[in-house]
Amino acid sequence: MYDLKAIVIGAGMAGLAVGISMRQAGYKVEIYEKTRKLRPAGAGISLWSNGIKVLNKLGLGKEVAAIGGQMNRMEYRNLKGEVLNDVNLIPLMEQVGQRPYPVSRTDLQQMMLNAFGESDVRMGMCCVEVTQDVDSATAIFADGSTATGDVVIGADGIHSAVREYLGGGKVEPRYAGYVNWNGIVEASPDLAARDVWVIYVGEGKRASMMPIGDNRFYFFFGCPKRKGTKVPPEEIRTELKETFRGWAQPVQNLIDKLDPKQVNRLEISDIDPLPHLVKGRIALVGDAGHATTPTLGQGGCQAMEDAEVLCRYLVTTNISVEDALKRYESERKERVAQLVLKARKRTDTIYNKEPDLTQKWYEQLKQEEEKDVTDAIAKIILGGPLH
Ligand SMILES: Cc1cc2nc3c(=O)[nH]c(=O)nc-3n(C[C@H](O)[C@H](O)[C@H](O)COP(=O)(O)OP(=O)(O)OC[C@H]3O[C@@H](n4cnc5c(N)ncnc54)[C@H](O)[C@@H]3O)c2cc1C
Repeated sequence: MYDLKAIVIGAGMAGLAVGISMRQAGYKVEIYEKTRKLRPAGAGISLWSNGIKVLNKLGLGKEVAAIGGQMNRMEYRNLKGEVLNDVNLIPLMEQVGQRPYPVSRTDLQQMMLNAFGESDVRMGMCCVEVTQDVDSATAIFADGSTATGDVVIGADGIHSAVREYLGGGKVEPRYAGYVNWNGIVEASPDLAARDVWVIYVGEGKRASMMPIGDNRFYFFFGCPKRKGTKVPPEEIRTELKETFRGWAQPVQNLIDKLDPKQVNRLEISDIDPLPHLVKGRIALVGDAGHATTPTLGQGGCQAMEDAEVLCRYLVTTNISVEDALKRYESERKERVAQLVLKARKRTDTIYNKEPDLTQKWYEQLKQEEEKDVTDAIAKIILGGPLH
């Protein structure tokens, strides 16, 4: 279809990816963002090859490579630091045709804002409602203003307002039972090797570092906790010291080196798979449609895939906007539902929901063949729209 105008709600990864791809397709795009200043929720992110392929297609391959870390191996260690499993990721890259890139979220956001045009994002615009009629869709904002286009795309994250319109009510995120702390530190050999993603596991918790651009590590910790615990920034180091007492020296070094004021402390949630991702001229992309626990590192990558598929159907079909969105839904619904549920299961295993299963998993890690690990990751990557 030609000459469409898209109204995009939210300027996270999903909204920006949709915005960039639709503009490149020649459509008019308006992005509305509720905050006055964009600040990524979290320090880093690993973009697996399926997400990177979409960025390549958007012409951002060189830029993402420049901000990305060189992650050549993946290493599981127990809490004492003994290697459980050491996987060479180069054969995976050869299998799927693209290197993954862990990146700083600030760098990624800036890269995407530059590609879309930062000043074109309309800030401080909180969408409170969406409506549609036979030939248009409209977003209504808290200040009473409206924006009308051929399609409204809800890229407004896990607490999506647009989703309420689709589902006929509020979908409450489900607490996944654990807290994630994340941040960025300068890379150094007393933490980890520069080209390895290292993951320490034990006691139903984990601590991890992965290389990102500019000689830094993105790190995260995870530990099961009841909902609602809060710790002020100045006490985060002590909290981590207590939570990971007795863990290997690099984990202690990391806790000593991190800047507690720059650590994000998040309670992790997801949403149940939705019955619909679209309604008429209104579509959901990214976390609005399928927020997931981050244990497969696929939430953001799925947002990229959404952008690719949604735009492709609008460009390549010519029956109606509603028809294109239906095709988007039928290509995406099953894939994102499966990944949300798979990540949920993995989260439960990692974070001790059933301690026997977690112990069994630690044992399995020691026995896993390298190829089985890379095949499992490749299967997820190649299940995307750009194989
Ligand atoms: C700890 C953690 C680690 C993760 N690690 C990875 C990883 O390694 N790899 C990976 O691929 N994914 C990962 N993810 C998932 C990834 O971060 C998300 O899937 C991705 O950021 C979703 O992007 P989004 O644009 O859909 O949502 P968001 O980033 O939440 O953006 C939504 C935007 O919409 C705006 N907004 C909200 N409501 C409104 C409204 N009513 N009106 C206007 N604007 C609104 C918000 O302000 C925000 O800017 C991780 C997630 C977490 C929590």
